Amino acid sequence: MQECVFCKIIQGEIPAEVVYEDEYVVAFKDIHPAAPVHLLLVPKKHIPTFFDIEKEDEAILGRLQLAAGRVAQKLGLEKGFRMVGNCGEDAGQLVFHIHYHLLGGRTLQWPPG
Ligand code: IMP
Repeated sequence: MQECVFCKIIQGEIPAEVVYEDEYVVAFKDIHPAAPVHLLLVPKKHIPTFFDIEKEDEAILGRLQLAAGRVAQKLGLEKGFRMVGNCGEDAGQLVFHIHYHLLGGRTLQWPPG
């Protein structure tokens, strides 16, 4: 997926501030942070949207969830954090490589807009 910005980050073709990486997942800082901590948790496999996830991707998604807690602890987010996954036009998805936003470091409002 040569045109995918997240694939390029995963392959090291675009710089990013990577804070976590394992065989399935990479987490890096969002370039437009919406909170003191704003990471993107991204599977290394190119999957465009949550609609495109297949049964064989179960392990990847599990690893994303596991990574979230580990990264949040590593960054000192003991008071909590939020994970957000945008899917498609109505949710405002901009990058078509699935990802969770991990937000923390301040009190977060609910519901989101
Ligand atoms: P979404 O697709 O609407 O969930 O959001 C995509 C997110 O990716 C936005 O918050 C962008 O700021 C972020 N983003 C886009 N390009 C880059 C990049 O090159 N590095 C880090 N974050 C990026």
